[in-house]
Amino acid sequence: MSSFESLGLSEPIWRAAAERGYTTPTPIQAQAIPVVLSGVDLLAGAQTGTGKTAAFAMPILHQLSATVDTAPRGPSRVRALILVPTRELAAQVEESVQLYGRYLSLRALMLIGGVKINPQMQKLRRGVDVLVATPGRLLDHVQQRSVDLSHVEILVLDEADRMLDMGFIRDIRRILALLPKKRQNLLFSATFSPEIRGLADGLLNDPVRVEVAARNATADTVAQRIFAVDQDRKRDLLAHLIATHQWGQVLVFTRTKHGADRLAKHLSQDGVQAMAIHGDKSQGARTRALAEFKEGKVRVLVATDIAARGIDITELPHVVNFELPHVPEDYVHRIGRTGRAGNSGQAVSLVCSEEHKQLQDVEKLLRRSFTREVVVGFEPRRVVPGRAPASAPRRPAQSAGRGKPGTGNPFSGRARRA
Ligand code: AMP
Repeated sequence: MSSFESLGLSEPIWRAAAERGYTTPTPIQAQAIPVVLSGVDLLAGAQTGTGKTAAFAMPILHQLSATVDTAPRGPSRVRALILVPTRELAAQVEESVQLYGRYLSLRALMLIGGVKINPQMQKLRRGVDVLVATPGRLLDHVQQRSVDLSHVEILVLDEADRMLDMGFIRDIRRILALLPKKRQNLLFSATFSPEIRGLADGLLNDPVRVEVAARNATADTVAQRIFAVDQDRKRDLLAHLIATHQWGQVLVFTRTKHGADRLAKHLSQDGVQAMAIHGDKSQGARTRALAEFKEGKVRVLVATDIAARGIDITELPHVVNFELPHVPEDYVHRIGRTGRAGNSGQAVSLVCSEEHKQLQDVEKLLRRSFTREVVVGFEPRRVVPGRAPASAPRRPAQSAGRGKPGTGNPFSGRARRA
């Protein structure tokens, strides 16, 4: 079994990790850390929950601290730049950098939108060893000439697939143009679309590629269940599941910001403490909601995919897909929030007949088929085609359908009254 020490990290870094209770590197850490320490470019396939943040944060801190005297901080100069898609992820990455770097005298800073720019400008002036930033706010600083990227030694693109999904490609290219040619590049992505490959080809120089778990595979510590239910009964079913199973900490995904707000309001009216978190909320409101959820004051956090991306909550026991995502990879990202680091988790999807196609896409991606379960009292009027529970009575009111739509099969996907 390897240790952080045996991977080549210096004592102050592995001591900080050990104090946090981390003594054994995760697979992505065991693979990526030696590569980063060797100074070459890295292409890493890893999703949230694998320990990927430490996989780049620790060796970057090691590298920067090893050369701290020969490369003094100039005014506004940045030595390592970590680009992330969301504010929440920026906060978590910066927290990790602070954590693993607590016994080093390196300066880390986070630049995110939604907060005042002037205090950030002041902090930048003193020079920064590790800068964690979202692309938009970083470019604001570029425009104000408050940041100097011409001495960046190491660049990280974290959750690169999500950055492309969010339309940051032009911002990223503008930022890349400001960096020195000679530098080390690390690209982390959960998925590898042709767009990501294109970005990696242009950015990385003869990279070492590491990957953990099969791509698009979901952690086998996560129990995944599908409940067939009509769209207009989903809210009541969710409240019912939370109450009957006494779920304490539930992260619920909706497709839209508006839907997140409505659901949080509805649950609160039902006496279940719930808050919504999405891009229209102020940074303060998002941070507060997340903190209260972590502390257990808020029982249900309702989030859109983008807002929830990278939320780091250890031992999150329940993830609910109130609606299935349009992109099946997002299902994998969503449920990646539970069952982390060996803890078992449960992912529940509430699926109505209109989401049949999305469910099939998820099944295709994961190469498995899910049983459609039905909760008594919430039987759908319109069944969701697919596999019914083996023991379920073969009535549309009790079980979901089997067979192809329109084949005359009584359990077909056609609308029917229970
Ligand atoms: P990440 O994939 O970076 O979001 O990390 C997922 C979770 O694993 C975070 O809560 C980390 O604090 C935790 N973690 C990171 N490295 C280790 C480790 N070596 N052992 C146990 N937990 C870890």
